[in-house]
Amino acid sequence: MREQDPNSRIKNFNEVALGYDEEQAIKEASRCLSCKKPKCKKGCPVNVDISEFISHVKEGNFEEAYHDLTKSLLFPCITGRVCPQESQCEGSCIIQLKEGNEPIAIGNLERFIGDWAMKKRISPSYEIIENGKSVAIIGSGPSGMMAAAELRKIGFYVTIYEALHEAGGVLTYGIPEFRLPKRIVQNEIHKLEKIGVKIKYNTLIGATISFEDLKLENDGIFIGTGAGLPRFMGIPGEELVGVFTANEFLVRINLMGANKFPDYHTPINVGDRVGVVGGGNVAMDSARVALRLGADIHLFYRRTREFMPARKVEIEHALAEGIKFRDLMNPVELSGKDGKLTDVVYSINKLSNNLDKSGRRIPYETGMKERFSCDSFIIAIGQNPNPVLTRLQPNIKTDNRGYIFVNCNNLMVESVKDSFVFAGGDIIGNQYNGRGGTVIDAMGHGSMAAKNIDAFIQRFIWKKRRSIPQSIDYAI
Ligand code: FAD
Ligand code: SF4
Repeated sequence: MREQDPNSRIKNFNEVALGYDEEQAIKEASRCLSCKKPKCKKGCPVNVDISEFISHVKEGNFEEAYHDLTKSLLFPCITGRVCPQESQCEGSCIIQLKEGNEPIAIGNLERFIGDWAMKKRISPSYEIIENGKSVAIIGSGPSGMMAAAELRKIGFYVTIYEALHEAGGVLTYGIPEFRLPKRIVQNEIHKLEKIGVKIKYNTLIGATISFEDLKLENDGIFIGTGAGLPRFMGIPGEELVGVFTANEFLVRINLMGANKFPDYHTPINVGDRVGVVGGGNVAMDSARVALRLGADIHLFYRRTREFMPARKVEIEHALAEGIKFRDLMNPVELSGKDGKLTDVVYSINKLSNNLDKSGRRIPYETGMKERFSCDSFIIAIGQNPNPVLTRLQPNIKTDNRGYIFVNCNNLMVESVKDSFVFAGGDIIGNQYNGRGGTVIDAMGHGSMAAKNIDAFIQRFIWKKRRSIPQSIDYAI
């Protein structure tokens, strides 16, 4: 795929990858074998019929490809850009069984089709038959967006409650513009509003409106509050000026325009030399954003880069842009002068031959420590579940890390006995199928919860009509 040259893109926030043109899309689609038993579909967390949509692209029938794709994948412009395809659909593509073959670039094709439809102003059309029931969605991230779309399509009156002044969750406040332009997320949000989904901004459920009130006013609730609580390293010096969490740093750029001073009045000054710690997408995003603010970036990771959980393409982009990878180095202390950060003390690691649960070699400290002087330091080692709602609602049971317990077969929050409450996305961690933490997993949860909310509510009405006592058999 064409992309902006690294030397020029580090000076702007415009999208790095520029997408396929029609000729490229047809050429790439034509490599697909249209397998009788396609493995790509199995590799996709939402089971998209990939070979079917690709077959339309091959023929140049982009509109049909779009309608086919959006039967199970409502937001292809988003997922085509951010899904970790290498470990999902593309990772399973049969074509690469033959040595030297690259998998079909399914994500690029998905993105092409989504963008093509957006340019042509084509969107799926639904005949919505109102059912008179209402569902409240807490959180407007990918899980909430998907649940809202699926529920609205089948006639529910749907309201999304969002704590922030913009919708989209991490898609809006976390992932930077150069990876996922905000106009794309806004376009999808607008499509939701066009089919009748209402969004109430600046509304923190648990504070602005109580959960109890929401239960009384609605027939069902979906909780998609995500994992927006920054995780700290627990090392000395994290309180120093110049130390940021990735969450704060990215929000200040994405939502508060900190990179657009003086047009926006909340600038951020990272100085000339910045350390970032972490090896996931959040760390890559933080490092690449800080680079675009003009700093020299050093990325600390406790293992080596082949074990980084970030998407391969993001690692390649970061390297091409000049980010310095400091493998096997683990910050253990931040020190400063007059309350301002001056240095990072890091320990030098080695990798043992023992593997952890994820199959990666376990790092250990060698005992050697070194010092790195810098102006800012960004902690990007992950996030914890958002606790605002659950802290105030003792009947929403969580594990000791704050993930809401759900019934893994239907995503119901069974600890809430008096309402149909479901949850999905990052707030449930990886309870469902052992997977989670990605945009497509969150969307898959939203879709599944929507189907079950409908099934439970219909069943409840049916039982009520037959005057059966209101004890509900939760197995559907
Ligand atoms: P979120 O997207 O976190 O949205 C939750 C929403 O709920 C937020 O808008 C929040 O304000 C709102 N909310 C919280 N509490 C309340 C409340 N009490 N009342 C009202 N609203 C509330 N995944 C990928 O697949 N590919 C990537 O490239 C990728 N990159 C990432 C980069 C970054 C910087 C981050 C942070 C994550 C990335 N992820 C990526 C992970 C992915 O974004 C998440 O898994 C996904 O967004 C989770 O969706 P969600 O709907 O559960 O929650
Ligand atoms: Fe095409 Fe690969 Fe899917 Fe086969 S597995 S249908 S080659 S994308």
